[in-house]
Amino acid sequence: MDCLFCKIVNGEIPSQKVYEDKDIFAFKDINPQAPFHVLIIPKEHINSAADIDDNNSKIVAKIFEVASKIAKENNLENGFRIVTNSGEYGCQSVHHLHFHLLSGKQLSEKMC
Ligand code: 5GP
Ligand code: ZN
Repeated sequence: MDCLFCKIVNGEIPSQKVYEDKDIFAFKDINPQAPFHVLIIPKEHINSAADIDDNNSKIVAKIFEVASKIAKENNLENGFRIVTNSGEYGCQSVHHLHFHLLSGKQLSEKMC
């Protein structure tokens, strides 16, 4: 499958890795929108949040556990935001499920 994030997981495309375990990979966003901007993804290819169902939802809980761990390791004690964009209206540009972990400054009150 010609998927950018699958290639990052496989090491075909380099990335700045922040975390890895058997199911999850996290790396710095190439175009950060905050001083701290990491993408957390399942290694398994899932297109988007619209494709989460009973068969694969456990990975989402694991991703939130990893987000909490990354936040602690990177001293994000003032808080952070987790965002996932899905589909055209959500402005999803890479069609492999990913969660943006944003912090490092006071973020906007606006969500959209
Ligand atoms: P989306 O717009 O789909 O929610 O987020 C995709 C994110 O992937 C964007 O924030 C974009 O900067 C990031 N991105 C796109 N291509 C690459 C890449 O090759 N490497 C890394 N590290 N991030 C990428
Ligand atoms: Zn993929």
